Amino acid sequence: ASSIEMQGLHKRFGRDTVALDGVDLDIRAGEFFTLLGPSGCGKTTLLRILAGLEEPDDGSLVVGGKNVTEVPPHRRSVNTVFQSYALFPHLSVRENLAFGLKMRGMPAAERHVKVDEIADFIKLGDLVDRHVDQLSGGQRQRIALARALICEPDVLLLDEPLSALDAGLRSQLQVELLRVQKRLGMTFVFVTHDQQEAMVMSDRIAVLNGGTIQQVGAPREVYERPVNAFVARFMGHDNLYPISNRQGGRLTTALGTLTAEDPGDGELLLIRPETLDLLPGKVEGDNHLTAKVAERLYRGSHAEFRLEIGDTTLQATVNNRGRHLPEIGETVTVAVAPEDLVTLHE
Ligand code: ADP
Ligand code: MG
Repeated sequence: ASSIEMQGLHKRFGRDTVALDGVDLDIRAGEFFTLLGPSGCGKTTLLRILAGLEEPDDGSLVVGGKNVTEVPPHRRSVNTVFQSYALFPHLSVRENLAFGLKMRGMPAAERHVKVDEIADFIKLGDLVDRHVDQLSGGQRQRIALARALICEPDVLLLDEPLSALDAGLRSQLQVELLRVQKRLGMTFVFVTHDQQEAMVMSDRIAVLNGGTIQQVGAPREVYERPVNAFVARFMGHDNLYPISNRQGGRLTTALGTLTAEDPGDGELLLIRPETLDLLPGKVEGDNHLTAKVAERLYRGSHAEFRLEIGDTTLQATVNNRGRHLPEIGETVTVAVAPEDLVTLHE
């Protein structure tokens, strides 16, 4: 496995499109690292620069302690899996897997052993003699992954490799991919626009917007302590409220005044929906808000509520432990824990 250091990477297309606007990023050896952001934020461009398929206008790139900014793709120990499988449809699975080894001049007998090994490893054993066009989408994506792994690169780049698959298959391959990465100890740089996928897979996540990095951190940091409103919204948060008045830990927003233990100095209050407790009826108390249930989505393991407090909306997620789940129209008390309140910047 290799570490990756990027410094001041800039990339423009034509005159007006700034794809990367100064990216500094350190990825550790053996890390499952994810680039997360909306379409057009520069994820693929960054990955192509790592692969050597695109040249940065400015900045430097060090892989495994070696400056590779000027090194051509085939001389980097980096391999890529793309969203579309890019397999040879007229060849068998075995021929597809052996292709890269053949290009490197490995003798046929050795190739055969190597293909059997990797096919076994990624549980494709009984498919190796089939033609690619006889396989399902999930099987093809597994083969694309096996083909990228077979040359044992120090770094594997994966550009939305699962986003063409349906939900069931996708979560199955997420688990498999994670298992393979941990077993091989290889550095993975994974691209996705799906925050759930990023949280499940990653040791660390970099959130990108408009060609710049907004935040780098472990999944819990990025979700629980987003540094700005963009990151918070992208991670799925809706409960963001401008603070109109502040006295120490007493924060006033459209919801009312709440006490926060260690809120930081941001101008927006973030309330995570799963930190809220709902009590039936009106219960007086500190950090209690009276609300009306406007919407209820029952999801079995939990339920999601849209609550109205005056003209303001608050989302709450409640674990289903067999206790009372309020109905639409019901009045409830929302209990907010001071230690769960954080603030962030716009
Ligand atoms: P993402 O993968 O996050 O969706 P990309 O890296 O593909 O984003 O694109 C970043 C920006 O650069 C977008 O505005 C995109 O239109 C532009 N872009 C990417 N590749 C090219 C190219 N080859 N020519 C012109 N513009 C490009
Ligand atoms: Mg892309």
